[in-house]
Amino acid sequence: MNINRPPNALVPVEEAVDRILDKVAPVEAETVPLTRSFGRILAAPVTSPINVPPFANSAMDGYAIIASDSSGAARQSPCRLTVVENVPAGETPSCTITPGTAARIMTGAPMPPGATAVIRFEETSEFLPVEDLPSTEVLLYNPVNAGDNVRLPGEDIKQGQTILKPGHRLRPQDVGVLAAVGQAQVPVYRRPRVAILATGDELVDIEQPLTPGKIRNSNEYGQAALVEKYGGEPVMLGIARDTVADLTAKIKQGLAANVDLFLTSAGVSVGDFDMVKTVLAGQGEMQFWQVAIKPGKPLAFGVLHHRRPVPLIGLPGNPVAAMVAFEVFARPAILKLAGHTRWTKSSVWAKLDEEVTNSGRRHYMRAYYYLAENGEYRVTTRDSGVKVQGSGILTSMVWANGLVVIPESITYLPVDHQVEVWILD
Ligand code: AMP
Ligand code: MG
Repeated sequence: MNINRPPNALVPVEEAVDRILDKVAPVEAETVPLTRSFGRILAAPVTSPINVPPFANSAMDGYAIIASDSSGAARQSPCRLTVVENVPAGETPSCTITPGTAARIMTGAPMPPGATAVIRFEETSEFLPVEDLPSTEVLLYNPVNAGDNVRLPGEDIKQGQTILKPGHRLRPQDVGVLAAVGQAQVPVYRRPRVAILATGDELVDIEQPLTPGKIRNSNEYGQAALVEKYGGEPVMLGIARDTVADLTAKIKQGLAANVDLFLTSAGVSVGDFDMVKTVLAGQGEMQFWQVAIKPGKPLAFGVLHHRRPVPLIGLPGNPVAAMVAFEVFARPAILKLAGHTRWTKSSVWAKLDEEVTNSGRRHYMRAYYYLAENGEYRVTTRDSGVKVQGSGILTSMVWANGLVVIPESITYLPVDHQVEVWILD
């Protein structure tokens, strides 16, 4: 961190993120039934108590044989074996395969002792019958090698093997693997509880009449959805008026709800009635930054005093700035609280449809990326119907499926230049 920076200089985005994450630690773990574990973040490594599969079994419907009994087999000169048993899946074979014998076997059934390979029905008289062949005999039309069509014990998962590591978000295939090793209860991180507070005298809530001079509180709802998107549990506190009493009461209400992170919107920019800043400063240790980011330059960060310190991020008020700042600053904090170990945003690289200019801040431009006919990803930061880059134009976020990231060091990029595009969908 650059401690020589003048006090009024812009804080670089990375530094702001680092300073936030420095005050954030993962929440505690809980145990959930496997059926509730999808999408949760694993809190402890899972090792397998068993081999998967637990025993050697057939990968095909066919005949379990000693591989060498099939040597030289061909359609015109088949090998003939005596069928000593029929082994369905779920049963245990009772015969041992000796030279000249075979067991009819189904997919997943245990290999009988002595057998070294399975020959598929398609390569036997099961599929190409011959007249007068006794039902206790089978003809082999192809040779097989030892090990063919046999699944070995532990070939998927070895007993004692670590199959999933902490910090991993459980996907459907992970849930399947947990079931395969018999993990009925799964240790996962608790979902972090995130307070969301809108501030401003001009706000009315979605069900109240829109009176002159007022706008609707949209930030709180968009932010609640973002909290859910990143695995948190939103605690919606509604609107605080720009008064010390109301703001203080709402902050106390949020803290009483035992939240792990506090998000506010608005009231932290330079020209503001300083009420939000004053109240926040009284409730904890706060810093008010001007971040080298566009949109969303004003940002508050600190910890509120409570039974344990609760980090607070004061997001800007303009709806687009609030959403972009959420993605850049609040998203990593929620992911770290939730037990993730990585919070790099997924991105694609795409060629610009139009030139862009920039001045000294990292610009997250609302953008629409698409696969062009030549197979390349392209991206546009303009759209005829919407004033795309205005920081109050929330429909620009509805139009956008990505955010083009223009580094702070860049002042101009020509058409066709490749840029990073954060994926929003
Ligand atoms: P402020 O940071 O308080 O100056 O607010 C910046 C802009 O964001 C103003 O135009 C506010 O009316 C608007 N704004 C603040 N909070 C919200 C909110 N919860 N929903 C929608 N717009 C808001
Ligand atoms: Mg305000």
